[in-house]
Parts: sequence; C-alpha cells; structure tokens
Amino acid sequence: MNIYALWMTKFGALSPLRQVAIMVGMATISSDILAALAFFVIGLQTPYRVVGVTTVIVVLVSLPLGAFLIGLNFKLKQLAAQLDLESRRDDLTGLLNRAEFYLQTQRLFLASRPMDSAGALLYIDADHFKAINDRFGHATGDEVIHEIGQVIKANIGGRDLAARIGGEEFTVFLTDADLGRANWISHKILIAARTIGRELELDKTPTTVSIGIALHEPGQSLEETLAVADKYLYSAKHQGRNRVVYG
Ligand code: GH3
Ligand code: MG
Ligand code: MG
Repeated sequence: MNIYALWMTKFGALSPLRQVAIMVGMATISSDILAALAFFVIGLQTPYRVVGVTTVIVVLVSLPLGAFLIGLNFKLKQLAAQLDLESRRDDLTGLLNRAEFYLQTQRLFLASRPMDSAGALLYIDADHFKAINDRFGHATGDEVIHEIGQVIKANIGGRDLAARIGGEEFTVFLTDADLGRANWISHKILIAARTIGRELELDKTPTTVSIGIALHEPGQSLEETLAVADKYLYSAKHQGRNRVVYG
C-alpha cells in the first residue's frame, strides 16, 4: 500500500495546517488506544513493561509516518527529474531547446583539441511555413514541426545534438563530422522531410526544408559557426529552397 498516495487522495487537497492537525490527531488517538489496550491486557506495573509498550507504540505509530515521508521524498525526486528534463527539451519535438543546445555544443567545442574541428553544424529552416499555417491551421503546422523533429532524430547518431531553436528552425551538431558526413546526413533529412506532406495528407503542399552547413573551424566559437551555417541557409533560400548549401 502506498501510504503517500493514500494520504494525498484523502487529505492532499486540505491546507498544510489541517493536514498536520489530522496527522497529529491520528498519531495521538492510535497511541492512546494502543496504550490503553496494553494497560488492560498486560498491565503496566513495572518500568520494563512501560518501556517495552512505549517502544512498540512508537514503532507502530512512526512506521506509517516514515512510509509517508519516504513516499514524499520519492515523489519530489521524480518531479525534480521531470522538471530538469523539461527545462532542457522542446516540448513539441522532444529535441533539445536552444539554451541546452548552446550549452552542450559549447562543451563539445571546449573539449575538442585546439588544432581540431569539433564537427559540423547544420542550420535547418522549413520552407514556406507560413503558407502551411495559413492553409491548414496552426495545429497542422505544429504537426509538421513535430514530424521534422522526428526526421532529424531518425537521421543523426548517438553523439550528435539536435535542437529546435525557434519556431520552425532547427540546429544539429554532428560531433567529429567532416563535410562529407554532414552533407550525407543533410540530404537524408532533406529527402525525408519531403515525404511529411504526403504522410499528413496535406494535399500536395510541399513540406521541404533548406539546410546550411558550416564545418567548425579550430578555435571558432559556436556563434561564429552558427553565423556561417546561417549564411549558407540564407543562400539555400535564395537559390530556390529545398536544398543543402555549404562552403
Ligand atoms: P521561408 O521559406 O523563407 O523560411 O518562409 P517561411 O514562411 O517559413 O518564413 P519564416 O521562416 O520567416 O516564418 C516561419 C513561420 O513559422 C512564422 C510563424 O507563423 C510560423 N511559426 C513559428 N513558430 C511556430 C510554431 O510553433 N507553430 C506553428 N504552427 N507555426 C509557427
Ligand atoms: Mg524561420
Ligand atoms: Mg521558414
């Protein structure tokens, strides 16, 4: 029996003061009953009996209280872990959020050797997304964003990082990747994104993305690498969208 859950169902909605009053009241009444029972059944003539009976009463009354506190502690730890996870993730896609992506990528940059590249960065933006929202509504737009997130997740490795850093903008950091791998993964994402419209039955409306790739140069900061990827993303948009551009 989960004492914490039982307590919360019965008394959880009451004020803390009332809950304490009920808890103390229940402990007092049950100790009194146990003491009275002990008095009438075995008698409390000797100090040994008094000590023995008191010990039994304390154990019996404090057991449920202990179970309650352990349950409460477990629940708080669960909540803290959930909040910690939610503070790092984007709730629509389950990818990292912007702050967490910056933190983790910067950590990788710092861990890389000064003469080496840490990997490659992709900047991804959905094409003509306003038209999808206008035509099918915001909820369908959200579904498309979710699906783009799934496509990205399905095409990166365990050491890579992916984030939704804005409305329909995503970044991916491919750890230790060269341009060849970055280009290959970008094209896999590009091709898979095109099928989202068909899967969601968006009536032949294209669901394409544009991708800019920047190879991290040794010593370069994350902001500098992002600016390069953003520049190539901008070129991809200008060249007609639905493509990958790199330097
Ligand atoms: P482009 O090809 O130039 O990128 O055209 P675009 O229409 O995608 O333009 P842009 O990237 O500037 O606009 C993105 C739009 O995405 C603007 C906003 O209405 C929409 N948007 C931003 N965040 C969300 C979101 O969380 N959900 C949905 N459904 N739409 C969003
Ligand atoms: Mg955008
Ligand atoms: Mg866009």
